[in-house]
Amino acid sequence: MPKSARPRSSVRARLVRSDNLKNAVAQHVRALGGSVVGFAPVERWAAHGEVPESYRPEAIWPTARTVVVFGVPMLLPVLESTPSINYQEMYDTSNRLLDDIGYRLATWLCERGHATVFLPRDGYGSLDVLLENPFGSFSHTYAAKYAGLGTVGVSRNLLTPQWGPRVRFGSVFTAREFAGDRELSDELCNRCGICERLCPTQAIRARTDGIVGDLDKDACTRHHIELKKETRWPCGVCAKVCPVGEDRRLFDSRSTKRYLDERPALEANPADPRYRGLVHLRRHGSRGTRIV
Ligand code: SF4
Ligand code: SF4
Repeated sequence: MPKSARPRSSVRARLVRSDNLKNAVAQHVRALGGSVVGFAPVERWAAHGEVPESYRPEAIWPTARTVVVFGVPMLLPVLESTPSINYQEMYDTSNRLLDDIGYRLATWLCERGHATVFLPRDGYGSLDVLLENPFGSFSHTYAAKYAGLGTVGVSRNLLTPQWGPRVRFGSVFTAREFAGDRELSDELCNRCGICERLCPTQAIRARTDGIVGDLDKDACTRHHIELKKETRWPCGVCAKVCPVGEDRRLFDSRSTKRYLDERPALEANPADPRYRGLVHLRRHGSRGTRIV
């Protein structure tokens, strides 16, 4: 074999080995309960320039070469009942599952000789902390974008083809280099504005110079504090009403008109049969008494 061919074949062999491990990681995530998984080389944070430098993987853990991002869905009919104890329980369950997947995946990679750390799905200790400092230590939303799992919409949620914004994400940082997954080239957000219109605190404001809207984090957090007192949080209305996602077909819930009608219809008639199931869930298991 000519000398010049050796490095190329060794690079090819390394990539094949890397791809085998990548497939194994993706299978492992699925076996642990993840529904979507993607790989983002750390260079993508600097290439996009959207995330402040101190919040990028290389700043948080300089050994990181790849961020593996995984997500679990929020099932639409449960989310539609928000605010309800049913949604709160689903949210809490997804949080436990995300932390479990992250921790198990990190240790699984460490045991195979690849230094890896996991990040909790939320980087804050309480809602009061968020009022003082309204930033998590790391954005899984942008990590998921750079891992090719979706695009960021007006609501600032990550919209995915499969579940729209009804996915929650976790991430691990690994020292292992993996080929990045292709980022989505087309925006999924259609700027319909329904998230802005139905946000209970008018916290979302669409922008004219880009897709990603402005968010009044203080208003959003204060609303969550109220919901928590009712023992039925979080809010999630912006994720509930977004028309994007194949899950709408699965649950036969393609029209978003009933979300626009919901408040006036229930204020006029709390027994409106179109919302009977949602009202039933909102009336049980929490301190909240409002049905909208
Ligand atoms: S979570 Fe609720 S309050 Fe916060 S932005 Fe979304 S709809 Fe508005
Ligand atoms: S509800 Fe409409 S505007 Fe808001 S994120 Fe979804 S598609 Fe975009």
